[in-house]
Amino acid sequence: MDKQTIQDVTFKGKKVVVRVDFNVPLDKSLNITDDRRIKEALPTIQYLLKQGASKVILMSHLGRPDGQVVENLRLTPIAKQLEKLLGEKVLKLDECVGAAVKQKIDQSKEKVVLLENLRFHKEEEKNNPEFAKQLAALADIYVNDAFGTAHRAHASTEGIAKFLPAVAGFLIERELKYLGEAVNSPKRPMVVILGGAKVSDKIMLIENLLKKADSILIGGGMAFTFLKAMGKNIGNSKLDPEKVDVARSLLEKAKKANVHIELTSDFCIVKNFDATDTLKTVKDIPDGWESLDIGPETRKRFKDILSKAKTVIWNGPVGVFEIDAYAAGTKDVAQHLAGLKGVMTIIGGGDSAAAVSKFGLDDKMTHISTGGGASLEYLEGKELPGIAALQSKRSARV
Ligand code: AMP
Repeated sequence: MDKQTIQDVTFKGKKVVVRVDFNVPLDKSLNITDDRRIKEALPTIQYLLKQGASKVILMSHLGRPDGQVVENLRLTPIAKQLEKLLGEKVLKLDECVGAAVKQKIDQSKEKVVLLENLRFHKEEEKNNPEFAKQLAALADIYVNDAFGTAHRAHASTEGIAKFLPAVAGFLIERELKYLGEAVNSPKRPMVVILGGAKVSDKIMLIENLLKKADSILIGGGMAFTFLKAMGKNIGNSKLDPEKVDVARSLLEKAKKANVHIELTSDFCIVKNFDATDTLKTVKDIPDGWESLDIGPETRKRFKDILSKAKTVIWNGPVGVFEIDAYAAGTKDVAQHLAGLKGVMTIIGGGDSAAAVSKFGLDDKMTHISTGGGASLEYLEGKELPGIAALQSKRSARV
């Protein structure tokens, strides 16, 4: 990566402000139900402390308070969990900018500080330069380690980098290493599995991958718009009617680019979503039925292609994996990927990451992205503003 990371600069005696992604799920009693995002930030925090940073000032958003103080979205439960995981006292403040915040940080004996929810200020998402400047005024160096929000140009992800030396943390470095290698210099054959619900969300992704992949396997709700474009019966299965022409043109482009497209060829169908007892497998979907999973023949075809791959990128489940009756295809694909040897397996965040997790296969994949939207945009070939704003290896501001 051509961006500077925390290993390229010195932190001794410096105050460091770090954008982390502590947007964790909370239950009604404000208990954290999954603290993975806090754990993911620990290596960067621990490294900065070890390097002698005088303050490590952490900032994040939580939920969607839309520019107002929402009591249930304060970062207080996160500070408590962070203290536990870090084994170090954390000063939790109830604001994120201003003279009082600065003073409290400077006078505290705690080295680790957690600012209040950034999105209590509408200026954060508006990337207001004055707000970014106020955040920057708290520290000497800025570290971005929030990959999940790197595709958004917000004050704490992009704006702040205009006022401070700005480098990437370990999490962003790891994401770019794996995603970058998978799309820019993949070992071949490179196979992409696409699923999920909407074609419109992933058109850009398919366009870009046609330039890179050897095969694209399309399952899930995505497949039906393509099957419709080929004149197949899809019954009541998921369809993006406005995208049928686009799907047809993508199939033509794939042919020209010599990219093999493998579509669902047999279907697990039901009369309606709740009628799991009507589940059966067919090659041709009758009117009035809908398909919610790929059938055994498709699974076999997908697995045969995956067995020859050297790089696999997976974005979107191939069935409604959240419901056990429709999860078999996604589980089979996930287990097959987990068993491949010497293959780089990249899971593009979001629902595919949730599926891999549900089947207990997290540690069997090469990399599971922490950012659904961010990884999608990266794979589409877009520049992520939160990363573009960091200083390049060639510049030497610190
Ligand atoms: P996306 O956000 O586009 O990746 O969509 C993910 C969602 O697609 C998941 O919640 C799945 O349940 C859903 N999905 C997968 N396969 C199908 C299908 N055949 N029909 C309808 N929804 C599906």
